[in-house]
Amino acid sequence: MIDIQNVRKSFGPLEVLKGIDLTVEKGEVVTVIGGSGSGKSTLLTCINGLEPIDSGKITIDGTEVHAKSTDINKLRQKIGIVFQQWNAFPHLTVMENVTLAQRKVLGKGKADAEATAEKQLKHVGLGDKLTTYPGRLSGGQQQRMAIARALAMSPDYMLFDEVTSALDPQLVGEVLETLKMLAEEGMTMICVTHEMAFARDVSDRVAFFHKGIMAEIGTPEQLFGNPQHPETQKFLAGTR
Ligand code: ADP
Ligand code: MG
Repeated sequence: MIDIQNVRKSFGPLEVLKGIDLTVEKGEVVTVIGGSGSGKSTLLTCINGLEPIDSGKITIDGTEVHAKSTDINKLRQKIGIVFQQWNAFPHLTVMENVTLAQRKVLGKGKADAEATAEKQLKHVGLGDKLTTYPGRLSGGQQQRMAIARALAMSPDYMLFDEVTSALDPQLVGEVLETLKMLAEEGMTMICVTHEMAFARDVSDRVAFFHKGIMAEIGTPEQLFGNPQHPETQKFLAGTR
């Protein structure tokens, strides 16, 4: 479980997270929506320890992410993260891109890493692209490769930060379908997204961020059907 307690985070004078509380249970899918600059990406980078926090606490399966005694590299292996864009190594094949971290970080042998890569690439529908170079893939295929690469590390949690935002509209659906498949398989996920239909469809809970505060959180029925916070109402009115 991911447990976030009263987390505060500033960049210089700008307080970006103003006391965030959120618990994500195993198997739960939480989507995070909200305007640009509301702190959504910062929260994800704090969860996997890429950014320090100023106060509060984030624990993952009981291990405190920002404690000095925590082996952050080890903990990070539990948490896959996929961003809007991932710059794959252009001179390596899809297969080589997906085996690289397995070999370097997990210390896996070539055959083992390749077997896992093939399994995960097939899983996201790229079984026929193993020997292709990333530059030959569509944006949607590149994002699915990034997802396969994260899954190949056998994470317990997956964080997705606007993984469809850089895609041409006709490629968004195939990536959302992949996320939906993972959700249905029981993966614990936090998805930052602008895709409201997706959020409504796959989430156990939806969180609305506004200026560093989690203004509202609830089931999709509650949050989309009967939003309580005026800023949620305003935001959702703007997305229709
Ligand atoms: P969101 O993902 O909701 O759009 P972010 O978490 O990326 O928002 O950013 C929240 C605020 O923090 C923004 O005002 C952004 O400019 C600022 N910010 C994000 N990262 C940094 C950084 N590394 N240094 C300084 N300011 C940052
Ligand atoms: Mg962001």
